Amino acid sequence: MSKPLHHFIDGEARAGTSGRLGDVFNPATGEVASRVPFASVDEVSAAVEAAKAAFPAWAATPPLKRARVMFRFKELLDRHLDEIAGLLTAEHGKVLSDAKGSVIRGIEVVEFAAGIPQLLKGEYTENIGTGIDSWSVRQPLGVCAGITPFNFPAMVPLWMFPISIACGNTFVLKPSERDPSCSLRLAELAREAGLPRGVLNVVNGDKVAVDALLTHADVAAVSFVGSTPIAMHVYETAARHGKRVQALGGAKNHLVVMPDADLDQATDALIGAAYGSAGERCMAISVAVAVGAIADPLVERLASRVKALRIGPGTAPNVDMGPLVTRAHLDRVVGYIDLGVREGARLVADGRGLKVAGSEGGFFLGGTLFDNVTPAMRIYQEEIFGPVLCVVRVKSFDEAVALVNAHEYGNGTAIFTRDGDAAREYATSIKVGMVGINVPIPVPMAFHSFGGWKRSLFGDQYMHGPEGVRFCTRLKTMTSRWPTGIRAGAEFSM
Ligand code: NAD
Repeated sequence: MSKPLHHFIDGEARAGTSGRLGDVFNPATGEVASRVPFASVDEVSAAVEAAKAAFPAWAATPPLKRARVMFRFKELLDRHLDEIAGLLTAEHGKVLSDAKGSVIRGIEVVEFAAGIPQLLKGEYTENIGTGIDSWSVRQPLGVCAGITPFNFPAMVPLWMFPISIACGNTFVLKPSERDPSCSLRLAELAREAGLPRGVLNVVNGDKVAVDALLTHADVAAVSFVGSTPIAMHVYETAARHGKRVQALGGAKNHLVVMPDADLDQATDALIGAAYGSAGERCMAISVAVAVGAIADPLVERLASRVKALRIGPGTAPNVDMGPLVTRAHLDRVVGYIDLGVREGARLVADGRGLKVAGSEGGFFLGGTLFDNVTPAMRIYQEEIFGPVLCVVRVKSFDEAVALVNAHEYGNGTAIFTRDGDAAREYATSIKVGMVGINVPIPVPMAFHSFGGWKRSLFGDQYMHGPEGVRFCTRLKTMTSRWPTGIRAGAEFSM
């Protein structure tokens, strides 16, 4: 096996010194591909120190010059797209075309960040009183931290650090320990693009590294994406330590199929959105809500499509779905399928026990479909995060809306219908952060902002887009008078 991976601190690779290491697998073979160092509190402090030291000069660098670094970074990312997608598939397992698509979504955030001179423009009011002017500017916060999940090892880091850095902050990224290589490569490329030392640092690790960032006196803000229990821990701990926090959590996304929907379109949408990336997407559809008589033909079509999914290593051609990320995650998802059977849901397609010829050691699971799932079942309530779609049958539009609104998660949802009135009413009344109308995965583009409601997001602001800029900066308002002539003396009333 090659030498262990490293951290990236103050512009260079640093070997881990804690003596603690984690395994990084190739999910398609099941073999350990590399080992990642787990940072100690001291190693995290070294990264924060480097970021703190780099902050004054970077914050004072004109936004136009910071934007030019982003332009060069974008060019490098374009040039290295295949390489980054390759690293992603090697450690995460998703198919290469999907990996590439997700990196492109990340590059779009860099494009947005390159517009930072425009985005940071403040507001000015002349003559708020006679001879008095007032203006507001947005200033960077200082050292910001990002903690990211395994399922988008390039895109989610790219949601965070380009905007933060373009705003004039410096950054410490703690990527998922399951697939850290993309983040290390992104940091190298950002350095090559001209980012000064210490502006972007990567520390690898586990809870020790995360908690060190959440409690460090010199970290001003924390962006987190991951599961809901950890999002709550991050939100509570960082807020208690006086930091600004945005913590995005888990999801259970419903797609409502109305009786008038185009059945082929709805079936295609559900298959792609439920089984793409083996269901390991926070915007994956995991519940199909079939309204009225469409349920029987919908389940029938889904069943034959699920059984026909092409499953294999993410690097193989013509594959729809790769393996799950680790053996432990595979076992957890299989545990949920066992549970669904015990809970009385009808198992229409069973992905358990799948063996992929030539990749017998890989963490593969076939597409799984449950029908007659009810809100009382844990397979309905909890996030499974695998290729498992649950069909819930309801009688009416109102019942569908009530079902979605009662769920604890509120990340994304979609409605498939030909009825504009129903679609409009759904978009208006649903308690979910991102809504698709005949669009199964309504992920906002980089120049809009991404986030959920309820227990899918803790904090006030979404990620990237205009809300990202607001999260990464704080407002300052100046009021100015240059008195001439008569002096009025002291004033005692407002
Ligand atoms: P996770 O919560 O296990 O890990 C996320 C990060 O938190 C990792 O960097 C990990 O090292 C760290 N972490 C894990 N346990 C910790 C602990 N006890 N204390 C401190 N830090 C800890 O999530 P994951 O399994 O990597 O990713 C999948 C989850 O992320 C799913 O729940 C998915 O819905 C969610 N997700 C949400 C969004 C969104 O935008 N809402 C996007 C992507 C993924």
